[in-house]
Amino acid sequence: MAVQPFFINGSWVTGQAGLERVIINPFDQQAIATVAEGDRTDARAAIRSAREAFQGADWEQLSPTERGQLLYQLGERIAAEKENLARLETLNTGKTYTESLWDMDDIAGIFRYYGGLADKHAGEIIASPNPHSQSRLEKEPVGVVGMICPWNYPLLQAAWKIAPALATGCTLVIKPSELTPLSTLEWTRLAEEAGFPKGVINTVTGPGSTVGAELAESLEVDMISFTGGVVTGKKIMQAAAGNVKKVALELGGKNPHILFEDGDWETAIDFILNGVFFHAGQICSAGTRVLVHASLHDRVVAHLESRIRNIRLGNGMEESTQMGPLISADQRQKVAHHVQRAIQEGAVLVCGGQQPDNDPKLEKGFFYLPTLLIGCRPDMRIVQEEIFGPVVHVEKFETEAEAVARANDTIYGLSGGFWSRDPDRISRVSKALRFGTVWVNDFNVYFTQAPWGGYKQSGLGRELGTTGMEEFQEIKHIYQNFNPQPLNWFGK
Ligand code: NAD
Repeated sequence: MAVQPFFINGSWVTGQAGLERVIINPFDQQAIATVAEGDRTDARAAIRSAREAFQGADWEQLSPTERGQLLYQLGERIAAEKENLARLETLNTGKTYTESLWDMDDIAGIFRYYGGLADKHAGEIIASPNPHSQSRLEKEPVGVVGMICPWNYPLLQAAWKIAPALATGCTLVIKPSELTPLSTLEWTRLAEEAGFPKGVINTVTGPGSTVGAELAESLEVDMISFTGGVVTGKKIMQAAAGNVKKVALELGGKNPHILFEDGDWETAIDFILNGVFFHAGQICSAGTRVLVHASLHDRVVAHLESRIRNIRLGNGMEESTQMGPLISADQRQKVAHHVQRAIQEGAVLVCGGQQPDNDPKLEKGFFYLPTLLIGCRPDMRIVQEEIFGPVVHVEKFETEAEAVARANDTIYGLSGGFWSRDPDRISRVSKALRFGTVWVNDFNVYFTQAPWGGYKQSGLGRELGTTGMEEFQEIKHIYQNFNPQPLNWFGK
């Protein structure tokens, strides 16, 4: 299998140290590619290239409209290549092909959206307190951005960073997760074809401990934009302190999904299932913590159980598959550990809780059965910690205040949702929930126009929307005095 190189300063290169990694399909552990892996030296070369391009005439002198056109064209190329990109995403992550196709449509739309925004951030005049003067605000690109991405939505998470950063005029070095580099490498080829100037886009595959750490530490990087786990996020914040670089973090979540007694519980069941088992629960906004009013609890649990037992596991490339495998043996082990510990702490296992053991087709994949737990107390680890797997637990509550207090009782604050038909309750609870996104009578809705990000330990800053573009901008205040007069403060 030919080794796939990575991309620095407009050239496809293999790492200085000659490192390689075999990339596998989590459905059957078959090798699907071998990629070159970089180390700190390669990361430094990529940062240098991004720095030169940022100050270089080819990029600096492109007008915002021309930058926008490049981005828009790249969006068109992604749309034209979506089957190929989606196939790579499914082979590399195990998610269903239909979902990967949605991702690619979404990604093409993100590039078109930020292409359109690129020339719509003109400066503005603000009131100046002094006569004969003018105060103007200009938004300028923050500079060289290091981007570190996770494995669950490899190209989608990358697009949330890349498109707005380029729209503002930043240059970048992106590091995909070492487990899932293929779609990002393919996207890099499309970006090269689209004609971005040399050095504006650099893609370096490799481990977090070397390539990622170099991006976070480098004094030549002006901003680090990271999506991943909270433990890694904290390390990145510390590493970024060296030059006080701007930090944007999209971290984990423990996302409550509340069903009040006046909610449409039959429809909610469907959304609870989607909220947890989509992409086998490997979603930062997965609604793994379901809070149900006591009057509905038993009915909801019975319906959930029968629907969960019917979820079809399999190869993401097959149309009949509803849920694929987890990304790795390690991830499955972590999920299994969460469930075992919950049972030891007193949770009741309703279904799942193990690997599938009677289907030879699933034998080699990192599958874990969709799992339902009940009888959990707020102090249990399963209630507090992110699982990142196909596991949901249902808790009972009696009052609105209790539901809200429990939902907010988490170190995270990414997203949450609830079901109710009462307008007063909808307005009260939407306000009371401390999360970056609150869904009412729906769950897990994301789109390009709406900002996404977390309160508390779910992160710093916002991606998507116009706010997602401002993250990659500095604001400069230009003050001009039209009639300067001597101050005579220090005498004449
Ligand atoms: P992770 O933190 O293990 O890895 C993420 C990336 O960081 C990878 O590219 C990895 O190589 C790199 N990395 C690891 N150690 C590093 C270090 N010391 N310095 C620099 N880079 C380093 O996360 P993961 O397991 O790939 O992804 C799962 C996590 O991502 C979950 O916690 C999930 O909630 C979170 N996530 C959040 C969002 C969001 O929008 N909030 C979206 C997707 C995933």
